[in-house]
Amino acid sequence: MLDAVATDTCLEVRNLTVEFPNRHGTLTALNDISLEIRPGEILGMVGESGAGKSMTGLAIQGLLERPGRIAGGEVLLSGRRIDNLSDRAMEQIRGREIGAIFQDPLTSLNPLFTVGGQLVETIRQHMPGMSKAAARERAIGLLKEVGIPAPSERIDHYPHQFSGGMRQRVVIALALSANPKLIIADEPTTALDVSIQAQITGLLRRLCKEHGTAVLLVTHDMGVIAETADRVAVMYAGRLIEIGPVETVLKTPSHPYTKGLMASIPALGARVQHLHQIDGAMPRLNAIPEGCTFNPRCPMAGPRCRRERPALVPTGAGAAACWLHDGGVA
Ligand code: ADP
Repeated sequence: MLDAVATDTCLEVRNLTVEFPNRHGTLTALNDISLEIRPGEILGMVGESGAGKSMTGLAIQGLLERPGRIAGGEVLLSGRRIDNLSDRAMEQIRGREIGAIFQDPLTSLNPLFTVGGQLVETIRQHMPGMSKAAARERAIGLLKEVGIPAPSERIDHYPHQFSGGMRQRVVIALALSANPKLIIADEPTTALDVSIQAQITGLLRRLCKEHGTAVLLVTHDMGVIAETADRVAVMYAGRLIEIGPVETVLKTPSHPYTKGLMASIPALGARVQHLHQIDGAMPRLNAIPEGCTFNPRCPMAGPRCRRERPALVPTGAGAAACWLHDGGVA
């Protein structure tokens, strides 16, 4: 095992490639993904369904479904390589160093136990030596921090006794309970009422800034990215095609796909739930086109786009994979 190297980067993903071998060959679900997240920074990851967002989160957590496997690249947490650890070592890292928040709070909460029981167990699992009474105090403190009213009473309630929004607050408390370095939040507000969504993303943002926790926020919703993230990574067909500060990418997107995603956000009011405004569909992993993976849907594609795959290159504050990004001719 490598020793941790002093670094101000929390998560570093280098050239990550994930493959699923099958009878007909190999599907490349993630292709050469590189990104980093600093402590207290929220990186939003956006793209249409099937783009590889959840897969990125799962690969980082060592939770790829077999026969899926990391076929190349590295994942480092605070400078320490974690993609090559044993299942047991990775189990220790999940919960303690990497917290998870999923779309459905009931994925994380057991309906048969009180929320307090689950919080106390998680806290004690990750902080051995802490007494039950001290863990209960910490659990009440966490429930208060995430905005659960009357936390010393609510701690003894079961998940079904909470509303969806309150349940997701409990899940955030659970994810934070071991003071992890990184939280992976996969569509954390998609199942919630629009009126509650902003409260939850606001809470996640505030707590992660206060605790210095890095966040990978997976969402199909550019509105959530605009409200919550510091930087944004745009995924398309298993590849990272644009990355940069939120203001830059949202105001002056470099990639035509990102421009299409931006066009799918109504200026004001109701938020669209699906990114269906771009004509055509993302290619299946077994039918990735030659050249730029987006070229069949791109209104600006030229001969070079259909022939050669563009690499991710700097675009000022960020980076994009497009032959046209700086006014070039394709
Ligand atoms: P997103 O989160 O962006 O909607 P995913 O990360 O879930 O997308 O999926 C990325 C790609 O990986 C999809 O094309 C999906 O079909 C493929 N995939 C997911 N699970 C498996 C699997 N068990 N075997 C083969 N391919 C898979």
